[in-house]
Amino acid sequence: MGGIYIHVPFCRKKCFYCDFYKTTAVSQKPLFLQSLHREIDLQCEYLQNEPVDTVYFGGGTPSVLLPSEISEILEHLGRCHAFSNQAEVTVEANPDDLSLTYLKELKMVGANRLSIGIQSFHPEDLKRMNRRHTRDQAVASVANALDAGFGDISIDLIYGLPELSMSRWEENLRQAMELPATHLSAYHLTYHEGTMFYHWLKKGQLKEIPEDDSIAQFEMLMDMSAAAGYEHYEISNFARNQAYSKHNSAYWKGKKYLGLGPSAHSYDGVSRQWNIADLYHYLKSLQQGELNFEREILSDTDRLNDFLITRIRTKWGLDLREIQTYFSQKARLKLENSAKKYLISGHLKMDGDIIYLTRQGIMVSDEIMLALLAEES
Ligand code: SF4
Repeated sequence: MGGIYIHVPFCRKKCFYCDFYKTTAVSQKPLFLQSLHREIDLQCEYLQNEPVDTVYFGGGTPSVLLPSEISEILEHLGRCHAFSNQAEVTVEANPDDLSLTYLKELKMVGANRLSIGIQSFHPEDLKRMNRRHTRDQAVASVANALDAGFGDISIDLIYGLPELSMSRWEENLRQAMELPATHLSAYHLTYHEGTMFYHWLKKGQLKEIPEDDSIAQFEMLMDMSAAAGYEHYEISNFARNQAYSKHNSAYWKGKKYLGLGPSAHSYDGVSRQWNIADLYHYLKSLQQGELNFEREILSDTDRLNDFLITRIRTKWGLDLREIQTYFSQKARLKLENSAKKYLISGHLKMDGDIIYLTRQGIMVSDEIMLALLAEES
């Protein structure tokens, strides 16, 4: 099974923390759509007849697209690729785009999962981040999605924001847990170079929250989501009633995927490639009938490290037998050796041949993954 990711690069305004590739040049949408359709044709063979199990419209803000435009994209993809019966079609959206009418139409054209970028319910946080929506719009968007017939609704939250107190984070979580969502993605704020937040941090106009608060907010996230029936199935992802994101789970299981649109990444099992992260050059190339991407052939060590990082982050863990089968006995032994220290300290646990992060390990997962990585020989 394979997946398809479509990067819709338009945002009506830019959030101050965001480093995804995006542009406010929404007037370029018609040319973007024309180019995207050309790219679909040019990349028809990329998945080598692998049936498509997931389509993910990400961005940017895919909800700038009309349902009819999404429908045309899906139809075109369907002419190139065989879709599985249970294919998951996710559309990322901003709450203020999600009227009941829009959502009903979106459902009718084949979208069956929504990922709503709420980030916070608090007016001060929303203003600080330069988000477009209000708390009420966030709450209404989930209610509308349910009314429109979406059973799979994911919401995004951000913690670790400057001046985010424990009580405000608790309020955010309480509000999130009350919503009839089935999935939650919650990420700690990162100060990415090139963003306004990074600029303000460097100029001393913003202050990072203390590390203890970051840890306490993550602890609170884990506790409150568990109490509200969410299962913590990946470092930053939580699902009710096993409503795991099929698309992201496919990344974590090393399945092939095709990325379309500026900055989108693709993976075919032996190489990774990424489209140019620039709308102007993306459009120019496709208008001339050419793709514009860079490609990297993966070494055995790259593949081993990808395998390790993607598996260990989930609740299904890293199976050492698979390391032995797909790589080598030597790779397994080396990994067991590097994991020892963390097994003793309680950051990792082992059940049969499978290694998992413990709750304590999830808190420092970046450090653990770095320590487990194999070095190029
Ligand atoms: S967070 Fe989403 S809506 Fe905000 S600028 Fe980034 S891509 Fe656009």
